Amino acid sequence: MIRAYTIASGKGGTGKTTVTVNLGTALAQLGKETYILDADVGMANIGILLGLENVPVTLHEVLAGKAKVDEAIYDGPAGLKVVPSGISLQGFQDANPDRLREVMHDLVDRCDYLLIDAPAGISRDGVVPLAIADEVILVVNPELSSIVDALKTKILTELVGGHVQYAIINRAGKDNLDFVEKKIEKSLGVKSLGSVPEDSHVRESAAYKTPVVIKYPTSGSSRAIKRIAAEISGCE
Ligand code: ADP
Ligand code: MG
Repeated sequence: MIRAYTIASGKGGTGKTTVTVNLGTALAQLGKETYILDADVGMANIGILLGLENVPVTLHEVLAGKAKVDEAIYDGPAGLKVVPSGISLQGFQDANPDRLREVMHDLVDRCDYLLIDAPAGISRDGVVPLAIADEVILVVNPELSSIVDALKTKILTELVGGHVQYAIINRAGKDNLDFVEKKIEKSLGVKSLGSVPEDSHVRESAAYKTPVVIKYPTSGSSRAIKRIAAEISGCE
């Protein structure tokens, strides 16, 4: 069974953190022991989205060799467990991305699912998360630059020994949904887990530091993410 998924895209702002937080929460709501790990050590956003931005120990300290991973695990919504990164530049500088594999192995033994939020780009801290997961899920927006960057990420993942089987199309428009999904599947050579619509509730829920699947459970984005969670966990 696949347990550790890295959520990646290449391009920034496609919705990796949004998907990580909400898919993680939706899996937790299905009763799955789920951990999310903020491997975007440079631009850490999971803590900000979940009101954990001021916690004393984060992945930064763990990757710097100053703390154990147990000290950086916090309770999120619906039983979700969260390992946030810190927001300080110094913390980013001290964090050694090569320690991430060890952290991943430590966490994956405790849970049904581990979702790793990857940074954009192809620097060292961006590449390690692609190599260590069982599967990479590409978060793609229906626009050419996002698709091209996702393809580059897929090629890079395979180069470093990782595996990409799935994509989630985020910020999808209302028209030609099936066509767009098929086109992206074909361009990237991956299977779509589903399309998450452009939905203003995503931003609104962020202001409440609450995942949209909890704050607005019947919104279009929530329903789509919950369907994807059900598919991943085989609970449909
Ligand atoms: P990334 O982690 O890939 O950089 P984020 O998850 O931080 O991307 O999302 C970038 C921005 O897009 C955020 O402001 C977020 O609220 C918004 N966003 C993400 N997904 C959606 C969506 N489906 N509908 C509307 N806004 C979205
Ligand atoms: Mg992010």
